[in-house]
Amino acid sequence: MKLESILLPGVSADRPMVIAGPCSVETEDQVMKTARQLADKGQKIFRGGIWKPRTKPGGFEGIGVEGLPWMKQVKKETGMYLATEVATALHVYEALKAGIDILWIGARTTANPFAVQEIADALRGVDIPILIKNPVNPDIELWIGAFERLNNSGINRLGAIHRGFSSYDKKIYRNLPQWHIPIELRRRFPDLPIFCDPSHIGGKRELIAPISQQAMDMKFDGLIIETHCDPDAAWSDASQQITPEVLDYILSLLVIRQETQTTENLSALRKQIDECDNTLMEELAKRMRISREIGTYKKEHNMPVLQTDRYNEILDKYGNQAIQCGLDTEFIKKVFEAIHEESVRQQVEIINK
Ligand code: PEP
Ligand code: MN
Repeated sequence: MKLESILLPGVSADRPMVIAGPCSVETEDQVMKTARQLADKGQKIFRGGIWKPRTKPGGFEGIGVEGLPWMKQVKKETGMYLATEVATALHVYEALKAGIDILWIGARTTANPFAVQEIADALRGVDIPILIKNPVNPDIELWIGAFERLNNSGINRLGAIHRGFSSYDKKIYRNLPQWHIPIELRRRFPDLPIFCDPSHIGGKRELIAPISQQAMDMKFDGLIIETHCDPDAAWSDASQQITPEVLDYILSLLVIRQETQTTENLSALRKQIDECDNTLMEELAKRMRISREIGTYKKEHNMPVLQTDRYNEILDKYGNQAIQCGLDTEFIKKVFEAIHEESVRQQVEIINK
């Protein structure tokens, strides 16, 4: 992949490069108020969603082209650079006409190669930074494919945005970070700048500071943070937006460590271990939940808790699978015995309720 700098004149090269502004452009007043407050805090790049991809119809789907003159006004009055999301060739055309400086491709769009190709074709010959959010599904090849499509259109000023990945089970995060995926992207393309989007990963204000710090600890280059002059009144993603003042405070608390290469590798590996442990924990919680449901079923149908055949079947199956996975069978046996014992304990508790 051929990469060139995404830096813009007057924007510091120091980490993190910050893009801030509302999830959605709503009204002229909201845009101008938010932008003025951000500019006062020294922010240089203003984001605002003009076209909003919503999960279900009926929500606010973006103000559309009507909001572009307000964005232009932001640039005129504050000198901030402008960034918005594009999902179609028409969006690209309208955004460029309005003088938008940075475009990003949203997570749902990155997951669709037809849409990415359409955008890549529309951008041929355009020399502005394009940021690509990870696809909603945890598929790094699909993400890389999107970079390649743009690169093939002659776009070299590229950056990535890590915004987490959808999951069926809702956890503390709105979108699971799965940090090992952006870390792998960095390993494959060390020169590709990576932004973190703590707003969409966390889905709530309280998580923005810790996720941003984690991203800095992993040497991400930038942050894109949803910022609104009146977050509670936001027309979209209200629970995850913060005021420019809170943004400034969060940024002032960030610790930017300059690590040596060796410890950096080690901490990246440790993050991956933490990620695995979190997944193990969540899966165990899920398994126990299902197990308790089975307990209720057994109770209703007057069945005994312990069914030896089923237990032997589990031990056999995982014994064989352990060998295929290169895991020690004795170790796996111990793990599953412990899990099974806890399952039985939980079911006994339900039956005796
Ligand atoms: C957004 O940035 O407001 C947005 C819609 O994000 P995503 O594509 O990550 O869902
Ligand atoms: Mn949003």
